Amino acid sequence: MKCSTGKRIYDSEVQAVDALVDIRSRNNYPPNSGPINVYKCEDCSGWHFTSRPPQHEILDRPDIQKKIQSDSEAAYWERKLRF
Ligand SMILES: [Zn+2]
Repeated sequence: MKCSTGKRIYDSEVQAVDALVDIRSRNNYPPNSGPINVYKCEDCSGWHFTSRPPQHEILDRPDIQKKIQSDSEAAYWERKLRF
C-alpha cells in the first residue's frame, strides 16, 4: 500500500501513536519540532505523522515524557560509544 503523500503508513491510530512516541525517543527533537501528532489520511485511509499542531496529548503525559527522555539519553550514549 502506498500513499500519494509519500509518508509512511500506519494501519491504526494506536500503531501510529506508538511509533510517534518511539521516534521521539530515538531522535532528540527540540520541543515543538519533528512529528508531534498523527492523523487519518483521506488518501490512503491509513495514519501518518504530522508536525502541525496541536501536539498529541500523549506527549504531555508525564510517564511518556519520562520514557522519551530516558530513551533518548540511552540512544545518545549508544551513538556516542559506538564511534
Ligand atoms: Zn496517506
